[in-house]
Amino acid sequence: MGRAGVSSWAGYPFWLDLAAKMHTTFSREERDYDKDLSSQLLKEDKYSELFEKMRLANQPRYLTFLSGQFRPQHISGVYKRFIRTLCKLPNVCIVTTNVDELLEHSLPEHVTVQRSDIERLPQLLHQRIPFICKLHGSASSVESMVFSTRDYESIQRNDVYLDAVRTIFSNATVLFLGYGLRDEYVFQSLQTCSTGRPLFGTGPHFIVTSEERTDLPSIVRRIQYEAEAADHRDALQILEIIADFTPSQTAQTAHEHEEEEEEEAETTSCPQSLYYIADLIFPGTWTTSQTVRLDPIAEGRPCQAIIGEGYVNGEIELYNYSALHDIVVGLLCFDIVCVSIDHLARVHDLLGSEAFWIFVESGSLRLVIPPPTTSVMFPDDQSPIGDLGMFTHVSNNRSSIEFSPISIPERIRKQILPIKGKEYEAERLFQLLESSVFDVSEADLWESTVRKTHGALINPSIRHMLGVSSGTPMNTIPRWLSFPILRLAKVISTGIICKHIQASSTRMIYGSEKLASAAFSTAEGKEWTDDVASYVLTGQFNSDVGSIILKEPSLLLEILRFRESSEGESFRREILQRLAADDGSQIVTAINSGLSQALPVSVLQRARNQFSGLFVHRDTSSVLTPVVWGDLRNSDTRIARWRKRSRTLLDEESRRQKLGPYDECPCGSGEKLKFCCQAALS
Ligand SMILES: [Zn+2]
Repeated sequence: MGRAGVSSWAGYPFWLDLAAKMHTTFSREERDYDKDLSSQLLKEDKYSELFEKMRLANQPRYLTFLSGQFRPQHISGVYKRFIRTLCKLPNVCIVTTNVDELLEHSLPEHVTVQRSDIERLPQLLHQRIPFICKLHGSASSVESMVFSTRDYESIQRNDVYLDAVRTIFSNATVLFLGYGLRDEYVFQSLQTCSTGRPLFGTGPHFIVTSEERTDLPSIVRRIQYEAEAADHRDALQILEIIADFTPSQTAQTAHEHEEEEEEEAETTSCPQSLYYIADLIFPGTWTTSQTVRLDPIAEGRPCQAIIGEGYVNGEIELYNYSALHDIVVGLLCFDIVCVSIDHLARVHDLLGSEAFWIFVESGSLRLVIPPPTTSVMFPDDQSPIGDLGMFTHVSNNRSSIEFSPISIPERIRKQILPIKGKEYEAERLFQLLESSVFDVSEADLWESTVRKTHGALINPSIRHMLGVSSGTPMNTIPRWLSFPILRLAKVISTGIICKHIQASSTRMIYGSEKLASAAFSTAEGKEWTDDVASYVLTGQFNSDVGSIILKEPSLLLEILRFRESSEGESFRREILQRLAADDGSQIVTAINSGLSQALPVSVLQRARNQFSGLFVHRDTSSVLTPVVWGDLRNSDTRIARWRKRSRTLLDEESRRQKLGPYDECPCGSGEKLKFCCQAALS
């Protein structure tokens, strides 16, 4: 059910503007028009009485004026987006109070029901035939339009009409979009329906609104959105979410909830603390992204996939970061440190073979087999928009054209080669490593990453952070935002992995820790909010542990001894308890004092940099929400750099397509480039 809100997407006037414009003309040109009284009515938003005054003054002029305002017009991009979304909804019936005729022209398959043949409604509903019902008439048949007091009186006396409206409310679920439920007779019908069928009940109905509404009948539930654009096109996103939410997904979500409950039950019996290092960047050359051409599924150009987080120089600084430092902090403070199987060779080299295998044998270093990598898939290499897709770790077997996934043993043995003559011993260690992996590579974890990434992208604060325009349609990834969105997907996937392996902490770098604080609350489908239930602290921390150990590798064995001592154990218990008790303020001190027990004070006193920030999710109902470690001092500037780079990419894309600022934005929003993605990234 839609009114002015929806029509304004097509460029039709709002009630207030229409009434004011007509009032001006009538005041100027009609002698019989009661100017003062009408001005008063306009001020009080009494539109139907105001229209009645105009009608009384000059009926032919009044009708000509109105129908002139609702002549067919050029369809805007936003309206096209609205129609595209409507088309995705199976068997949707539309009831509108709009008098313009764009809807019926845009949806020719729908039966159009005029006010004069409204008695057809119950039958159409019963037969599930999609229709558009014009409750307040059509512009091309002026006499049918409902604007003035006498029009309202006539429909309220019409029992056939009122019955039809009530039939809708008792037999269907109605989503009110762009309609404030201000028509008295509609409101009354809803109320009659909520009390009239106590046995079977009706509804529920939903209203999409940006306002706080306390006056709604009990069978109407509110879906609130944040209105950023004057024409409330933000409400469209809600329709898009509904359109994308197919019944099979409902079943899946319900199933997932069951699983989550089971998981929570298990954690309470698991006392070990687990630290997952999601990002590890090593000194030397590295690539964090790849563009892959894939064979076309059908005939045509090959499709394209972008994988990885695509960090470039300028987005990251390595001066206060060291992978070894992260691993060592993890080994000191947690029972188990987990790294991705993709980082195996580097971690092995960094710790040195001896220490590496000691940690593996003691069970304190374990591998995670992450779910398939999320990628952005484009229909071809020119296309400006794509969607999230999956990229599996594969080996290209030359003897066959088929790609096949590499097995875990193969992935391990490809990265570490045994020393000659020690193959037998090496095999025992490989098997040990294999037997302790956390395998979370199943596809359903990947699916929930994609679902939750799409979900997080609804969050206005995440959109702002990444520079996604509020107009960009749901489930559309503009090419210039591929990397920021893949970084978001990485953060969300890390959250899912942590939950699955029951890690109490994780480490993220380069701005993604900032994203995590926003994403972890929203990805779980909780309220949209900027004030994530988290707090931040920074403290003194010796950030040189990594480099110290590089110089004095024997210190690693000191750490191992500390871990095995009773002090080391109680230290880790203390950290875990503090994390669980949501008492982060003492964490950094605890780590520092712990470190001074493990390492000589003289070593610790070198290079004292502020290093560590800590988010602790305050939601105590979920013990599983991991703590995110990261360097928070520069998170805002880091994310600003992401936007700057996206802007450069957007400008390149616009140049390639020869788009001016007033052309339609390539993201598919239907808005002008200047006010859409350019604005979001400026
Ligand atoms: Zn755009």
